[in-house]
Amino acid sequence: MKNILVIGGAGYIGSHMVRMLAKQGYNPVVFDNLSKGHREAVANYPFELGDLGDKARLTEVFKKYGIEAVMHFAAFAEVGESVKEPSKYYHNNVAKVLDLLDALVENDIKYFVFSSTAATFGEPVRPKIDESHPQNPINPYGNTKLMVEKILADFDTAYGLKATALRYFNASGADDSGEIGESHNPETHLIPIVLQAAAGKRVSIKMFGTDYPTPDGTCVRDYVHVNDLARAHILALEKMFKDNVSERFNLGSGNGFSVAEIVKEAKRITGIDFTVEKAPRRDGDPAVLVADSAKAERILGWKPQYNLTRIIETAWNWEQHRKY
Ligand code: UDP
Repeated sequence: MKNILVIGGAGYIGSHMVRMLAKQGYNPVVFDNLSKGHREAVANYPFELGDLGDKARLTEVFKKYGIEAVMHFAAFAEVGESVKEPSKYYHNNVAKVLDLLDALVENDIKYFVFSSTAATFGEPVRPKIDESHPQNPINPYGNTKLMVEKILADFDTAYGLKATALRYFNASGADDSGEIGESHNPETHLIPIVLQAAAGKRVSIKMFGTDYPTPDGTCVRDYVHVNDLARAHILALEKMFKDNVSERFNLGSGNGFSVAEIVKEAKRITGIDFTVEKAPRRDGDPAVLVADSAKAERILGWKPQYNLTRIIETAWNWEQHRKY
């Protein structure tokens, strides 16, 4: 059984990853500083408290468990915040990752799965974004992720570190069990905010921008279920173990939904007519981001299994029963 270190394993996507690794016969070890993560989300798994920029601590944990591959989820990931506080983003998402990568090389760990993002592409020049699309980020968050993608290419050339960069579109939904799900403080993501309004935990939601060049004027995004993303990581890891190559994949459903459409579907699923306000655009938001994931399907055999309805249903189930 392979021991996999999941950095940021107590966070939203990381905790779903940890469960899936265990289900698929791997030994996940959680490494998290708990600045944003939740210990309860991974109560049943080996846990090591630590910061991703702490090489000594990482080295200790690599040795203790005989770690063979590392997945990294411990990034700051809010576009709006990254525009206001870029320094925080460059420190955590780039400088500390460089320390982490040095620790991998020094400890002869050869496999790394990196959480990248659709935000590395910036404003789309084609309706759907495949891996050949130009990468011109329009916000600091996207810049940090693109920088690490470039660092990874150079680390492969120089040190033979094999890495797969997975560019997530909009991670969403919760585990079907209802035991884990999205929990940020403060919450900034559309689907959990909408469902908190439905649950009566917010008085209303704001639609950021209603004058975009889209059919209904609101931003269009490609929502992909967190368990579909986790499954892609396992396929990517297995591909690296088998072929020893670095890769990059765009992960989305290929379907775009506007903010107004998300609101409508959430109202239908919950049966609750919460209040929606029009608000100005949020800094750093492109009008449309939709993936072309044909490469992931061709090479990894990956195809999302959850549609938008299941995404919102699982997120709603979580919102109603959440423990953290
Ligand atoms: N959004 C919104 N109201 C909110 C939160 C988000 O209108 O309270 C919009 C946001 O401007 C973007 C879309 O919903 O167009 C998805 O935003 P989210 O923060 O969920 O994900 P992102 O696309 O930034 O990764």
